[in-house]
Formats: sequence, structure tokens, C-alpha cells
Amino acid sequence: MRKLELHWQILIGMVAGILFGFVMTFPSWGPSAVQDWINPFGTIFVKLLKLIAIPLILASLVKGISDLKDISKFKKIGLRTIGIYVVTTIIAICIGLILVNVLKPGEGISEDTIAKLTETYASDAGVTSKLEEASRQKDSGPLQFLEDMVPDNAFGALSDNSLMLQVIFFTIFLGISMLLIGEKRSKPLKKFFDSLNYVVLKMVDLIMLTAPVAVFALLANVVVSSGDPDLLVALLKYALVVVLGLALMIVFYCIVVATYTKKNPFWFLKQISPAQLLAFSTSSSAATLPVTMERVEEHIGVDKEVSSFVLPVGATINMDGTSLYQGVAAVFISQALGFDLTLGAQLIIVLTALLASIGSAAVPGAGMVMLVIVLESINFPSDKLAIGLALIFAVDRPLDMCRTIVNVTGDATVAMVVAKSVGKLGKPHVEEWDDYLDEVKTTKS
Ligand code: ASP
Repeated sequence: MRKLELHWQILIGMVAGILFGFVMTFPSWGPSAVQDWINPFGTIFVKLLKLIAIPLILASLVKGISDLKDISKFKKIGLRTIGIYVVTTIIAICIGLILVNVLKPGEGISEDTIAKLTETYASDAGVTSKLEEASRQKDSGPLQFLEDMVPDNAFGALSDNSLMLQVIFFTIFLGISMLLIGEKRSKPLKKFFDSLNYVVLKMVDLIMLTAPVAVFALLANVVVSSGDPDLLVALLKYALVVVLGLALMIVFYCIVVATYTKKNPFWFLKQISPAQLLAFSTSSSAATLPVTMERVEEHIGVDKEVSSFVLPVGATINMDGTSLYQGVAAVFISQALGFDLTLGAQLIIVLTALLASIGSAAVPGAGMVMLVIVLESINFPSDKLAIGLALIFAVDRPLDMCRTIVNVTGDATVAMVVAKSVGKLGKPHVEEWDDYLDEVKTTKS
């Protein structure tokens, strides 16, 4: 009998998790039971994915670079990737700004709702911690990001998931130096990384076997931890504007895939869907990265030379969904609190949201920290920042889940585009064994 495809299994896990979480909101002991007994399984899954992220980047990027026949190709891939990332992010922010200016979700929100949201969330630990984090981040010089990219200790960088760009820097440096010493001398190291690469991909497969159960746990926990349903409804119009913008971004990616790479966009979405569903369930593009890499390489056919660079870099610096959300949220907050935004201020939003997308960490809630910096760039009164964040805090988690889907899909689209442009978009080489236990158990030749 044909077993259910992975994305269906995950989807069933998600729906069951949401329903279960909803039922568990009724008994008074329900939410804490879910947090104590169900949520740990989701957390373990996210930890396992993060556990293999750095070994995977290291092994696959070294393999990708050392397979290159000449370095000039790498330069081409690098420049193209960064250029396309900037363009897609600007498009995302513009879509968000157009929608929020036309639909004006902030104008319909009543004084009462603003007062209630302020009272509930303005001094909430979630909001205050985001403000503190933002003030720590903004006290840095303009070239700080370049400085931060270069590690002073390779092992220090490799031992910290939040230092992904440093790992990428070190790995590229290592890969290029391997190319320069010639094939004969670099052979033992190359063999080691090739083998490590296969092992880590197998680890992704094994971890993914537990994905349906893990997403059940993650989503049940999201549902029991979500805020007052009345407040969620009050923010519905704002949330719908963000979701509409995100949906338009997916349409935009599909158009790019169809016109430039000449692939069927529905096929593209189907291949990438397990990564999208995980992005939704974990709210973290960094945790989803191993799965995104596996799907893009094996199921879409992007060569490792491209994907091993484009995807880890994208997970860290390319966040189209996040920047679209920041544009909408900044204008929504200004509309709701009666703060006038000139056209110049909106152009500043485009620029700072672009930089914020590069600076946001690929973890849950990071977009909201950088939103503070976007708001400050347009001279939003600092005494009202906490109120501004309080307005959108109640729906932030569900929107975070949705924007992470777009972040991941954007990275996959750019990987396809760059691969196509350098003749590295080949045939998928689907390893069926990754989705099912029986096949995983058999050793591949
Ligand atoms: N959770 C997002 C990501 O990991 C970042 C954010 O928008 O908060 O891509």
C-alpha cells in the first residue's frame, strides 16, 4: 500500500494538534498539562533540527565550494544571490506598504480596544524584553554587521547557532583555501566533509520521521498559550492585511518560478511543502534550514554548489515575510495611534525594514525586535513604543508562523533562480527512503 506522503502526514499532525490544543483550553488543568507533557516533544524536535544545522552548513558548503572548478563561479553566485535577495525584500516591503495604506486597518480600531490592548500587554514581559533587545541592537556602528560576520575563534563560531554568518564566513574561507591548494592535497579533507554531508542528511531524514508528532505537540502548545480570543478578533483586520501580503508574495514566487525557471509552480510548492509546514510549526527559518536544504537539493534538483551557499545565507539575511510584516505593522501602529506618516517616512521604512530583515535572527519573534528599530527610524515617539508593540503582540505568534513560511519559500525560490542562471538546476533525485521508516532503515549504496 502506498504510504501517505510526508506533507500530508505533517498536515494531519498540525490539524490534530490545533484541535487537541483547543479542547485542552477548556479544563483548567489543560494548558499546563499540554505545556508539561506535550510541548517537550515539540521542543526536542526543534532542538534536533538546530543540532544538525551547523554540521550541515559546514559539510555541504565545503563540498559545494570544493566541487567548483573555478572560484570566479562562486563570485558570480555570491553577487547574484545577494542582489536578488535585496530585490525580493524590497518588493515584499512595497507590497506590504501598498496594502496597509490602501486598506488602512489601523483606522478602524476603537479607543477601547487600544486601551484594553495597552493594559494587557504594554508591561508584559514579552513586550518589554523585545524593547530591551532592540535598544541593545541599535547601539552599534554602521559597519558593525561586517565586523560581526568575521569570527575570532572558529570553534567559538561553530558552537553557537546564532553565529550562522560567522560559520558561513569560516566555511567559505576554508573551502576556497582547499580549492587553492589543489585537488591532491585537499583530498582527505574533502572526503571527510563528503562523508559528513551524507551522514547529516541521513540525520535530517531520521528527524523528519518524527515531524508529524512534533508538529502536533508544537501546535497544541501554541493554541493553549494564545491570548484572549476577543483581542485576537479585534486585530483581525490587521492580521488579514499581513496574511494577504504574505499570500501575494507566494504568488509572486510562483510567477518567478514559472517564468524564469520554467517549472510548474504547483510542483515547486508541493516539493517544498514539508519545509513550509515546519516553518509554520516552528516559527524559525534556522530550525527549518536542514529540511529546506534537503528539499531544494533532492526534491527540486538545485545543485549543492548553489544551495549550500544560497540557503544558509538566505535563512540569516533574507526575510521577505518579516520585512513585509514590519512595513505593515509600522504603518498600522501609526494609524491606530494617530501618528502621521509622510511619504518620506514610508521610504525610510523601506530602507530600515530591508536592513532589519538582514539583521533579524532566524528565530521566533525576532521580527518584532527589529520592528522597534523600524519605528524609531521614523521618529515614532519613544514613550509610545511599548503601546505600539502592545497593539500587535496578541497576534504576533500566528503572524510569525505565517511570515516564516514566506521567508523559507523566498530562500528556496532564489536558490532555484540562481541555480537556473548558472546552469545548475538539474533533475530532482528524490530519495524516497527519507519519508518512511522502512526505507530509512535500509542502507543506501
Ligand atoms: N521567525 C522568523 C524566522 O525565523 C523571523 C521573524 O519574523 O520573527 O524567519
